[in-house]
Amino acid sequence: MPRKIVYGENSAKDFEYPENSLVITTTTPDIYNKWLDYMGLQNYEVYDKITPDPAIETVEAVKKSFEGINVSTFIGLGGGSSMDVCKYLGKLTGIPKILIPTTFGTGAEMTTYAVISFEHKKKLLQDEAFLADAAIVDPYFLPGTPFNIMRNSACDAAAQASEGYDSKLGNPLTRLFCKEAFDILEDAIVNDKPNLLPYGAMLSGIGFGNSSTTLGHALSYVFSNEGVPHGYSLSSCTTVAHRFNKSIYYERFKRICQKLKFEPLKLKQPLDQAADVIMPDRGHLDNNPIPVNKEDIIKCLEDIVNMNPLEQVVEEPR
Ligand SMILES: [Zn+2]
Repeated sequence: MPRKIVYGENSAKDFEYPENSLVITTTTPDIYNKWLDYMGLQNYEVYDKITPDPAIETVEAVKKSFEGINVSTFIGLGGGSSMDVCKYLGKLTGIPKILIPTTFGTGAEMTTYAVISFEHKKKLLQDEAFLADAAIVDPYFLPGTPFNIMRNSACDAAAQASEGYDSKLGNPLTRLFCKEAFDILEDAIVNDKPNLLPYGAMLSGIGFGNSSTTLGHALSYVFSNEGVPHGYSLSSCTTVAHRFNKSIYYERFKRICQKLKFEPLKLKQPLDQAADVIMPDRGHLDNNPIPVNKEDIIKCLEDIVNMNPLEQVVEEPR
């Protein structure tokens, strides 16, 4: 976990930021200028050309942008993409990083993971050097989040908590965090209490961040590679993976996705070819509670694209 975690209303406002920081964000000036005013930042630079699902070229571009400038700290302000770029830059340069999530889903501010694309393929990387020096979770940023982004983030957080619970790398402590995270996220989504999302996502980050996600995430990347947002692709992928794994979270996760009204997924590439992309993803598949072979993957993909797993009547896990 990050050495310093600050949580709650006004936590981003009260934090003492170092001068000469570089703020890295996906948002536009009309939004982040308001945020920076609230945070009371002094003498900073902003890099705002981060696009969703950042590639290694993006990281290199940011690095180039501050050549010759003395940067004391990176501040990742935004969704998972801003934070992932920040984490990778921190590792490359050794410059400290402060992570401030504004969409509350990935829990990335708590983890040693970063997702960066190499040659148009998303890669899940893990390194202790990705860990934030400080993480600030302030619900102040929540009201500005568009519904679609909030929905995808909420789904991601619930997928991470439940896959993290089932992960073979889990232990009683990670399961404690994952279980608590899922309970809070479920309450937030099913009973329309969005102000609970930041705390649930943060706990999910601590839980899955120390145990890893599994089959649901492994299946999802072929959809993200075709442009489906991460959280969206998890709605069907994690539902089908939970059924395959006989997870205790199968029905509850599906109910969350139904509540968020996700549509079924489509895949352009042939399923066999997609399975070949998924199989080498040992970082997720080796931690799945039960072994998965290529035929299992194809069957799961068939269920996802042909059966609309979110519409099926809730049944007992196989
Ligand atoms: Zn995720």
